Amino acid sequence: MAEIVGAEGAIGLDRKRSAGKNRFGKGHMTTFYRERITCQNCGKASEHHRLGSSYQSGSPDLDTRPPELVRSTLHAEVEACPHCHYCAVDISSPAADAAGCVRSEVYQKQFKSPEYPPLANAFLCNAMIQEGIANFAAAGWASMKAAWACDDAEQSAAANKCRVQAVELFRKALSAGQTFADQLGAEDAMLVDLLRRSGQLEEAAKQIEMGLSKRPEEIIVQALKFERALIAGRDFGCHTIQEAWDGQ
Ligand SMILES: [Zn+2]
Repeated sequence: MAEIVGAEGAIGLDRKRSAGKNRFGKGHMTTFYRERITCQNCGKASEHHRLGSSYQSGSPDLDTRPPELVRSTLHAEVEACPHCHYCAVDISSPAADAAGCVRSEVYQKQFKSPEYPPLANAFLCNAMIQEGIANFAAAGWASMKAAWACDDAEQSAAANKCRVQAVELFRKALSAGQTFADQLGAEDAMLVDLLRRSGQLEEAAKQIEMGLSKRPEEIIVQALKFERALIAGRDFGCHTIQEAWDGQ
């Protein structure tokens, strides 16, 4: 089965396979529940909407962003404490050594930055914490999700900055021996898309050749060749893995 496997799990390509399949629970809908939780950074309580179940049908984007309905649950992938502004996937879980970072001026400035939508700021704050503890792969993922939040808010300049940062952090991850996607060539494919969508076309073209030289499986080859065509057409837009597969 052709699929791009990200660090956060397998993302299927085949529509027949993904249609009706539910990553989180039953039913073709998304459910949330409210929970009052205690922040592990400051010890204060706040209420949050947490994801109960969701459903996805169709193809992920070239950068592995899932299709609807999971696509619209992005806001549930990061929590922000309203008291101290600690941002994490789960602020009630034992925190990494984040206190110093959260207290810092640069962190608090990022949390309220008018340059980004609030959801992107939360992901970027989480990225700052992860980078601080040298978890560059998680910091890269958080930066890429910040870009998705900017895409949704139609803030393209902010999205570009997030993608540039995601590339830097993913490359730091690779230098540090950390993986951010398991499938051979998937990391190259993700980097190519981040580079293309942030306008770094020459870098993207080089990364395509690096990816192809690893002789990855066919779906990755098709994604990389599709990216090559998008670069030739100076297309900086969002495209799906299904489009790459259909274009072979
Ligand atoms: Zn807090």
